[in-house]
Amino acid sequence: MNSPLKIHENYSLKHRNTLGLLASARYFVEVNSVDELPEVLGFARDKQLPVIPLGGGSNVVFGEFLNALVVHINLKGRSVLQRDQGRVVVRAEAGENWHEFVLWTLTNEAYGLENLSLIPGTVGAAPIQNIGAYGVELKDHFVSLEAMNIESGEIECFDRQAVCFGYRDSVFKGEKLDQYIITSVTLELDPVLRPKLGYGHLGDLIASRLDGEAPSALDISQAVCDIRREKLPDPSVIGNAGSFFKNPEISQELMDQLKKRYPNIIAYPVGAKWKLAAGWLIDQAGLRGVREGEVGTYQKQALVLVNHGGATGQNVLAFSDRVQQKVNEKFGIMLEREPRFYNGWVSSIG
Ligand code: FAD
Ligand code: NAP
Repeated sequence: MNSPLKIHENYSLKHRNTLGLLASARYFVEVNSVDELPEVLGFARDKQLPVIPLGGGSNVVFGEFLNALVVHINLKGRSVLQRDQGRVVVRAEAGENWHEFVLWTLTNEAYGLENLSLIPGTVGAAPIQNIGAYGVELKDHFVSLEAMNIESGEIECFDRQAVCFGYRDSVFKGEKLDQYIITSVTLELDPVLRPKLGYGHLGDLIASRLDGEAPSALDISQAVCDIRREKLPDPSVIGNAGSFFKNPEISQELMDQLKKRYPNIIAYPVGAKWKLAAGWLIDQAGLRGVREGEVGTYQKQALVLVNHGGATGQNVLAFSDRVQQKVNEKFGIMLEREPRFYNGWVSSIG
């Protein structure tokens, strides 16, 4: 028999968000089975409280008090659904740790996620912002997901079209915001390794390590982990939520103007547009490695905001406002925040 749900009141979230912000929730519960969700949703309905699904807390900024029921999604399980010449279809439950899941796919000779190694958080949160790194995005391998409708309690299936993936974006950040709890994700992987090494110096690093020999998937994963560990702060050492702003996409016309003024600007073509490296813009605005009170930008990557110890979500937000303002003054570009901000009853995107 399942043990009864344990709903905690006035629960500290400090160790439930990678920024390490001091915050608490009116109620908190950990869910280990989909069967527990109806009771959890019923509790929130009775209390007239919003439900906040939470995975690893690596893409959230919490205000000091959340008058909500925070539901830690701890659903576990992963399986190979189908394997043939052309593809390997795998499914994982939402609470699986993303990086452990990636390693599991590689040991099961299912390839494609190696460049997404070491992204913190859970499988269930991965579709929310279409996680991406080193030239690969979740959408490249996505088949479908299952999610419980918070209002009706029904499980619904979303295919790739229904999720409307964009750059660090999906329908769950827009039209269907706060309406679903994702319970599982199904992906299509490749039985043959097709290395994607064109991003940054990933290819050079691997070539130098293997003396030009073809890399295995684990070689690629290891190289990605090493680059990330070198450049990004470890949340267990210094609180952060990864990139705090999205890389802005701008028109060819604006790009031409900026290129004249800033010949060294870092930009990559995306269709008819250009994607600018937001970290470079922040650096050029004089804000790399700066600190204001308990909040600052990381010395090795200005795109990452860090909590030096005692910051609140409001401190982080106020600092990020100033970063946006300074970048806007210098380049005429308004950066968009990436993590989700929650405070009191009200929550907002970006
Ligand atoms: P959480 O922070 O717990 O939640 C994020 C949002 O998703 C919240 O709004 C939450 O309500 C919602 N949510 C979570 N789980 C569910 C669910 N099951 N159902 C419905 N809604 C849910 N991101 C990248 O894209 N690429 C990177 O390379 C990358 N690198 C990072 C490096 C560091 C050091 C850090 C700290 C973060 C990085 N991130 C990166 C951001 C983050 O890891 C991802 O966005 C990740 O997918 C968040 O997972 P999570 O479980 O921690 O989500
Ligand atoms: P980086 O390699 O220094 O690159 C800076 C930015 O330029 C990146 O954000 C990236 O955009 C873009 N870029 C670099 N090379 C590119 C290429 N060959 N083609 C297209 N775009 C290119 O960035 P980093 O901070 O070390 O991060 C490395 C990767 O991990 C990036 O993909 C980044 O998105 C991801 N990452 C994400 C987070 C997060 O929280 N979202 C945190 C850490 C790292 P893209 O972001 O579009 O790749």
